Amino acid sequence: MNENRLRAIDQSVLWHPFTQMAEYARETPPPPLITHAEGNWLVAHDGRRYLDANAGYWCLALGCRPRAVEEAVKKQLDKFAHSTLLGLSHLPALELAEQLTKLAGPPFGHVFFADSGSEAVEASLKMAFQYQAHCGHPERSGFLALGEAYHGDTIGAVSLGGVDLFHTAFRPLLFPVQRVAPPHCYRCPWKLKRPECSLACATAMAQAIAQNASKLAALVIEPFVLGPGGIIPQPEGYLERVVQAARHHDLLVIFDEVAVGMGRLGTLFAFEQLCQGLKPDLVCLAKGLTAGLLPLSAVLAGDRVYNAFLGEIAQQRTFFHGHTFTGSALGCAAALAALEQLSAPSFLQKLRAETIPALWRMLEPLRIRPHVGNVRGRGMLAAFELVRDKATGVSYPWEERHGHRVVLAARKRGVNLRAIGDLVLVVPPLTITSEEISLLGRVLLESLAEA
Ligand code: PMP
Repeated sequence: MNENRLRAIDQSVLWHPFTQMAEYARETPPPPLITHAEGNWLVAHDGRRYLDANAGYWCLALGCRPRAVEEAVKKQLDKFAHSTLLGLSHLPALELAEQLTKLAGPPFGHVFFADSGSEAVEASLKMAFQYQAHCGHPERSGFLALGEAYHGDTIGAVSLGGVDLFHTAFRPLLFPVQRVAPPHCYRCPWKLKRPECSLACATAMAQAIAQNASKLAALVIEPFVLGPGGIIPQPEGYLERVVQAARHHDLLVIFDEVAVGMGRLGTLFAFEQLCQGLKPDLVCLAKGLTAGLLPLSAVLAGDRVYNAFLGEIAQQRTFFHGHTFTGSALGCAAALAALEQLSAPSFLQKLRAETIPALWRMLEPLRIRPHVGNVRGRGMLAAFELVRDKATGVSYPWEERHGHRVVLAARKRGVNLRAIGDLVLVVPPLTITSEEISLLGRVLLESLAEA
């Protein structure tokens, strides 16, 4: 098929997610049409190569072509691709469940599978809701979440979400959620500075928990960094205070690790970085779980939640939830192979000692660029915010799409990026090499200058 024909289909038949299709059709240079991939690089039909600094939307943890994961999928395909987990079981699912519980450690003795991050969040919401009812507290049916939270695009996940641009249009469809402003040090909702602020953001959360505990089933939070809502890192000590407050008032704690889990922050699970031995009750995993090769997600559950669902059939404690492809055999085989690499001490050690520091060294020169207001993130989840006025942090009118201008300039230079408004995201595969990090740094500076 010639290029014009391919473009025509891409611009009208294929409806792209989170994309204004009228503008997409006018984009120059036009978006790459990917035909294959090598290492950390995407290759387009015209032969141009792009370093994927968006990692397939943050999920290609081991690069675009992790051989061992691909081989595991092929091997599984030779046995069978799908069999349901409703009423029977299969080997890849039970092996993966056991492996996840081993790696997560106590109290995570149980794994519930779904197909996407949104669905894992959705399952965890329903688990928490039903858990409270089983414990004799049906009145504890509400949820507490953060402003700028993003938990996915299904209705329950959107209800939890606090990103006006994405979520306002759907408000009439959503259930109410108790919401507290996010801990955003660059744009502090309390107009305070660290360390004099004494974590007013954590105090506000603790107060919201104390005041509403009798009506709340759970606190739902993206631990350490709010992802799509703005790559907003939480100040040190924030998460511990919030989790402790939730514990004190007997709320369940749900960690949405869809973006931050699977090595993205330098540990396999983000919750491993919590101090004081604190643990959440439910953990949602997706994206890098299969190294991004196949859609699979999981909810890790502690004994406390799981045991509340046990009983005689007539007691109706069953978790009435599940999807056709829950625990897909191919996805589980991919995840087992991905975990083998992602959990290897040598892999995590290199990530923490070499790759993450190199990424942040590379980002350092951006801080002094005239229209970069803030460079932020944690681990391998980073972003920089473009502003009209660096001194005051005043933003550009969002419809001018300055972030996207940087994306287009980087594309010309062979780097694939993604922007959310004026926030340019830097989320490469965890396997990015030091040479590729240097190249990325050069391209970011040049693209900023051009844009
Ligand atoms: N939670 C977070 C924190 C995410 O970043 C995302 C996806 N970006 C989701 C949930 C939803 O995951 P999915 O797109 O797989 O449904």
